[in-house]
Amino acid sequence: MSAIDGLPPLRAVIAAHGLSAKKALGQNFLLDLNLTAKIARAAGDLSGADVLEIGPGPGGLTRGLLAEGARHVLAVEKDARCLPALAEITAAWPGRLTVLNADALEIDPLAHLRPPVKVVANLPYNVGTELLVRWLTPPDWPPFWQSLTLMFQREVAERITAQPGGKAYGRLAILAQWRCEARIVMRLPPEAFTPAPKVESAVVHLTALPAPRFPADPAVLERVVAAAFNQRRKMLRASLKGLAPDIEDRLRAVGIAPTERAEQVPIEGFCALARALAG
Ligand code: SAM
Repeated sequence: MSAIDGLPPLRAVIAAHGLSAKKALGQNFLLDLNLTAKIARAAGDLSGADVLEIGPGPGGLTRGLLAEGARHVLAVEKDARCLPALAEITAAWPGRLTVLNADALEIDPLAHLRPPVKVVANLPYNVGTELLVRWLTPPDWPPFWQSLTLMFQREVAERITAQPGGKAYGRLAILAQWRCEARIVMRLPPEAFTPAPKVESAVVHLTALPAPRFPADPAVLERVVAAAFNQRRKMLRASLKGLAPDIEDRLRAVGIAPTERAEQVPIEGFCALARALAG
């Protein structure tokens, strides 16, 4: 079956450009264009949106995003070896793809994007969490993006979408769910990638809410959550003792038993505590 963009299959692209996978760059490529189109569809309607893709590699997901109708794709790739393959995609979709050869941690892509913006990426494992935390903690809310559709190791995806009461629930779940709707929309076995990683992967779709679910100062909330989960096995009266000398009273005042542990407290509770501490 020929691809709708008329470009060669990804295996041929990788062979033609000598794109042997580099572990240090988190290179596990998706070679099935049906699968990359499915991931692109998980981001919703792309026709009126600019898409920011981090780490296009040989361009499997990029081709999916363009075939699914993205208005424009800005693809940021650190590995210069991928540029000739990506240039072929740019030529096949005139005016629809811009490629930046840069480290996603070092650049600010905003100047190249027109709202609304959706972020869609099969993220390199080594920088995925750091990028997510940056996207979730901008100085102002709502952020520059409308949604994030991101591939992670399954364990990270489960931490992002975790509910209170389990081991996966922590800082990432609270950061993500305080101001977003977050759910796992796809699970992928290691064999979906070339080379196959050791672990399973999952795609998380996050939609930015217009405003946080519960009021709280982001910096105070971040401090409370970090302290609570840094010593997650301790009772809150011990793990939070450094935040206020009368922490037990403050916990009780917002309806949290001082003997509870961090993983039992819902986001609403952390926000109430952040407000009490800010006041
Ligand atoms: N999107 C492709 C796919 O789905 O087949 C490749 C995904 S691969 C998991 C991650 C990609 O991110 C690689 O192409 C790698 O070179 C790139 N990458 C790694 N670190 C990066 C960084 N700091 N900034 C931009 N790209 C990076």
